[in-house]
Amino acid sequence: MINDYPQALTIAGTDSGGGAGIPADIKTMQMRGVYSAMVVVAVTAQNTLGVQDALPMPEKLIDEQFASIADDLKIRACKTGMLADPTRVRAVVRNLKKYDLGPLIVDPVMVAKGGAKLLSDDAITIVRDELIPLASLVTPNIPEACELTGITIRDKNDIKKAARELQKQGAKNILIKGGHAESSDKADDYILFEDGNDMWLTAPRVDTKNTHGTGDTISACITAEIAKGHSMEQAIMIGKTYVEKTISKGINVGHGHGPLNHWV
Ligand code: PLP
Repeated sequence: MINDYPQALTIAGTDSGGGAGIPADIKTMQMRGVYSAMVVVAVTAQNTLGVQDALPMPEKLIDEQFASIADDLKIRACKTGMLADPTRVRAVVRNLKKYDLGPLIVDPVMVAKGGAKLLSDDAITIVRDELIPLASLVTPNIPEACELTGITIRDKNDIKKAARELQKQGAKNILIKGGHAESSDKADDYILFEDGNDMWLTAPRVDTKNTHGTGDTISACITAEIAKGHSMEQAIMIGKTYVEKTISKGINVGHGHGPLNHWV
């Protein structure tokens, strides 16, 4: 039957180096047995050393990509990544409201590991006020959770407070990724579910420089698992295991932060 195969969509930026952004999303979804479509919001000139340049796509082309996908495919879950600036965030919000693309996973990507801004400062409030209320799941790391909530995160209590604040902003489920926590040999993640239940996921920190695209990979894996029909809790657990596996066997390509290994 046409459109029976699970299909997911990534709405994000490219990475010419192949490690993060849309390439990471597509590789992840493919490995999870899900067909992936893409809306390119921005093109980056990038490699494992950093982001050398970036260009947001014209609004019209963003609208047209959404229309092409919605006219033909049956998307069962979608995710956002790099959204660049206020114009692009608003274009994405407009299209997410127009089409039924299944549950939305928002990875509120702000800064690349090398320090390049992937979301302008003036777009952060639009992500908070217009995009997060549409999200089934939002997956910030600790610096992103601080930016979105205004809460300074120093300990686990602050993480919980930030998650509750993100839920107040309208996201149903929250996953705060602890990989950026300071002075810890653990990379604990915190999940606050829609029904108010919560849990910590504990994992040892992996000592590797091949971490490029980690955030994209977990959110893409969760999106793929939702597209297959898993519950949010199951999808997050599978996402966490998938990232642990791919990060522990990174690939040595390039001279900087290498990519994860999706073929383990
Ligand atoms: N480039 C693009 C287009 C991305 O979407 C992302 C992450 O979401 C990155 C780069 C950042 O990847 P990293 O922080 O792993 O370098």
